[in-house]
Amino acid sequence: MNIILLGPPGAGKGTQAQRLVEERGMVQLSTGDMLREAKTSGTEMGKKVAAIMDAGQLVTDEIVIGLIEEKIKGGNAAGFIFDGFPRTLGQADALDELLSRNGAQLDSVVLLEVDDGTLVKRIVNRAAEAVAAGKEARADDNEESVKIRLMEYYKKTSPLIGYYYAKGDLKTVDGLQSMDQVSADIAKALD
Ligand code: AMP
Repeated sequence: MNIILLGPPGAGKGTQAQRLVEERGMVQLSTGDMLREAKTSGTEMGKKVAAIMDAGQLVTDEIVIGLIEEKIKGGNAAGFIFDGFPRTLGQADALDELLSRNGAQLDSVVLLEVDDGTLVKRIVNRAAEAVAAGKEARADDNEESVKIRLMEYYKKTSPLIGYYYAKGDLKTVDGLQSMDQVSADIAKALD
């Protein structure tokens, strides 16, 4: 089973993806994690995307499609969870093509719905919690970058909701509930 977790920044995609990894042995593919890793290890690509990411803008389709292509080669029996990818219609088309080239298909798209005020609060809290735990907060977890990330989401990613609805793949889950309830609803949507 290959699924997409769709939703704005701060909707809980990463948290829920981790749970699916633990419960079902699926493989999480987070382009945000991959890009942060490239940034930290200082690869050429990492240096190129650092400023764009910190500002909260989307990196080019070409870069993230390349990252995903590498990871899905050869497939995976338990299935992939696409977390934070696709974020544009171009990426959605590329994903379809990459999956079919690997003899696979997309089974479900789960949209986590959360209101905008809650998103901004969650992300600013996430930064405060990281600092309180002695860790470094994400460079883009500040109010200014969050607003840009939300704008990018509404301009470029939200059209995917209509696209996947029309394809018949879309399932919607209320992301404002407790983490356990969100997990339970995702399980219901998938099974
Ligand atoms: P995330 O961890 O998913 O919130 O991603 C963090 C940042 O990485 C985003 O704000 C973008 O700058 C970049 N990024 C992650 N995934 C993508 C993607 N699919 N397309 C373009 N940029 C992305």
